[in-house]
Amino acid sequence: MINITRLYAGRETTGDPLRYGQEGPQKVAHGHHFQGHGKARSAAERRPVVVWNTTRRCNLRCVHCYTDSCNQDYPDELSGAEGRALIDDLAGFGIPALLFSGGEPLMRPDLFDLAAYAVGKGLRPVLSTNGTLITEAAARRLKEIGFIYVGISLDGLEGVNDEFRGVSGAFRQAMRGFRNCREVGQRVGLRLTLTRRNVQDLDGIFDFILEEKIPRACFYHLVYSGRGRAISDEDLTHAESRAALDTICRRTRQAVEAGVDLDVLTVDNHVDGPYLYLKLRQEGSPRAEDVRRLLEWNGGGRFSTGVGIGCVDFVGNVHPDQFWQDKTFGNVRERPFSAIWTDTTDPLMAGLKDRLPWLKGKCATCRFQAMCGGSLRVRAFRATGDPWMPDPACYLTDTEVCP
Ligand code: SF4
Repeated sequence: MINITRLYAGRETTGDPLRYGQEGPQKVAHGHHFQGHGKARSAAERRPVVVWNTTRRCNLRCVHCYTDSCNQDYPDELSGAEGRALIDDLAGFGIPALLFSGGEPLMRPDLFDLAAYAVGKGLRPVLSTNGTLITEAAARRLKEIGFIYVGISLDGLEGVNDEFRGVSGAFRQAMRGFRNCREVGQRVGLRLTLTRRNVQDLDGIFDFILEEKIPRACFYHLVYSGRGRAISDEDLTHAESRAALDTICRRTRQAVEAGVDLDVLTVDNHVDGPYLYLKLRQEGSPRAEDVRRLLEWNGGGRFSTGVGIGCVDFVGNVHPDQFWQDKTFGNVRERPFSAIWTDTTDPLMAGLKDRLPWLKGKCATCRFQAMCGGSLRVRAFRATGDPWMPDPACYLTDTEVCP
């Protein structure tokens, strides 16, 4: 994650210590105490944020869904008892946060029980949801349990979103869910995947974010997984990615200068880090070198897939990240996650733990390796069949990355 508010607009935000190793403001869910909260461990020593796909079932049918989910029963999903055993292991392993995802996690009947159990074990729960099922009662329950964050997915303004999500009315239902969260004081924000369908509306999307007083917006780059593979041709061109970043930076800085409490982040393309650094340098910003140091502490893709983020799917398979579900290192029904995650006998797991020597092409010689780390390996694998080739979404020119 690249924090535009922190790095480009220069305002400290929640999560800075975990992301950049520096002390910053921390908002802790009222009345809850979480393990490891706010500690600035060295990036290489961090335990992974674990994405748990609690159910594959979903009430929407998004065109880019990485789990290819539908509204149907799927066999053999982890039971409640198996989920609690997983949580016990993750708590003992010391992970910084457990992200309840899906499908749509709120379609799992015991989701609240599992989340409450996780909080009881000292874990910090995050919900990744389409928001359409967050009634007033559900929002109150999320708040009571102590979710540290609820991320609601939207993929554009109303018409574009509903077409993208495959269900008419999804936008209004998601926004009702957002307002229900805000009403009860639940920390909540939006997640939006950038594609050629919505990138031209970015200014309108920022207007909407400001009108609705949305406190946090995460802009995701497209990853070609699940149904997302079928729309890889809708990924932004390199020129469009640069223009999108320029718009995101401009609008974020304007909001911060106007005193708006808004955190803006970009996700799933660590190239945004060096791009920001180059942009600050070009603008003559005195903060450019400080930003370089923060990005290098974070390490970008170097400490992401297989290190700082991992995934357990519906049936307990462990993957390098949520977008790489066709690569499995083991199953938590047979071995605990902590054992699977630290076992480097699989060449891919070993490579991900120390990836810089493996990088090929422009990534192998890039002068921004320390802050980007070769960005997203799964995108390189999808595009070329080789996980160590350059990320096709790297939009920096050969001249810019030349050592
Ligand atoms: S060439 Fe590779 S390491 Fe360098 S910025 Fe691009 S993706 Fe990152």
